[in-house]
Amino acid sequence: PGKDCVKVAVRVRPFNKRERDAGSRCIITMSSNATTIQDPRNQQARRTFTFDHAYWSHSGFVRNKDGLFLPEEQGSRYADQSHVFQDLGEGILENALQGYNATLLAYGQTGSGKSYSMVGYGPNKGLVPTLCERLFQAVKVNQEGRQCQVIDLLSRGAGTRSGGGLKVREDQQRGFYVEGLRRVPCDSAALVAQLMEQGTRTRTTAATHMNANSSRSHMLIIVQLKQIFSKENITKQSNVNLVDLAGSERQRSSGSEADRLKEGTAINLSLTTLGNVISSLADATLGKRVVHIPYRDSVLTKLLQSALGGNSRTVMIATVSPADICYEESLSTLRYADRAKRIQNRAVVNESPTE
Ligand code: ADP
Ligand code: MG
Repeated sequence: PGKDCVKVAVRVRPFNKRERDAGSRCIITMSSNATTIQDPRNQQARRTFTFDHAYWSHSGFVRNKDGLFLPEEQGSRYADQSHVFQDLGEGILENALQGYNATLLAYGQTGSGKSYSMVGYGPNKGLVPTLCERLFQAVKVNQEGRQCQVIDLLSRGAGTRSGGGLKVREDQQRGFYVEGLRRVPCDSAALVAQLMEQGTRTRTTAATHMNANSSRSHMLIIVQLKQIFSKENITKQSNVNLVDLAGSERQRSSGSEADRLKEGTAINLSLTTLGNVISSLADATLGKRVVHIPYRDSVLTKLLQSALGGNSRTVMIATVSPADICYEESLSTLRYADRAKRIQNRAVVNESPTE
């Protein structure tokens, strides 16, 4: 079993209206796979981080009337959705087909481009829908001698039917899992897209019910792929976890209602715990003695246990704003990602005799 590090990519988006109106300066520069962030208050202070990929999606493109981004000029460095898919999505697809578990996490402050990268907007399709389309294509191509089935595990969030949350349980074999989660067998990418839309709506509704903002919740999409190779009498199974995390920005205490504070605290706790798990795992890799990895401290880290230091090939895409006014948040995102890249997983093909 090979050890593989978490693959980390950083992506910087175009200015948004607020930033343009504020006359923001771009403080991010990229060169090959190095990303440099400049402290807007100190010319001398800049930090450079090296990740597996650095995606310049800041400028060089204009939006046309259909909402599509088109090149302003030839030879632009703009990394578009298909570029990102080629680098990150293809690998996840291949891993899943080979029987490895795979995880894709998007981390960054609210509005930095997590959902744009993961799901996309309108014609700018993100990693998840493209991955699903390609998965079904691959399944069709491979139909000879293989019987393929894709199951979508659709989380409906905080107990939208019963009002109570779903329970996370632990099992010797499966590790942590959500009990009673609805699983929908899918036979097309279109159905997956439809379920995702439904899930996204539920996420928004649930947030509104809790008097909260949907950017303060995590969304997990789990695609279970089971391939039966009848000739060889082998079954390969893999879980692909697609995770759009809550915004990483620190909650400003704005004297809001108790509900909101509670929710904000829980989300902060889970992202903090994720940070602690990442730190402990990064320390473990550096050979420091680590007694304890605090997976159990939050629901999020329980569910991501195999993705972090376990049986999964994991990719993190860290998204940042280009603007000087977001300096603190962008720097903290880059630091978070910098620790994540040191984590080593041990992914194995999930293969067993067909029953
Ligand atoms: P988040 O999910 O992190 O809160 P979003 O993905 O919703 O943020 O992005 C906020 C806005 O920025 C959206 O309007 C989105 O279309 C735009 N945006 C984000 N990333 C990019 C990108 N790489 N290229 C073009 N527009 C982007
Ligand atoms: Mg989002």
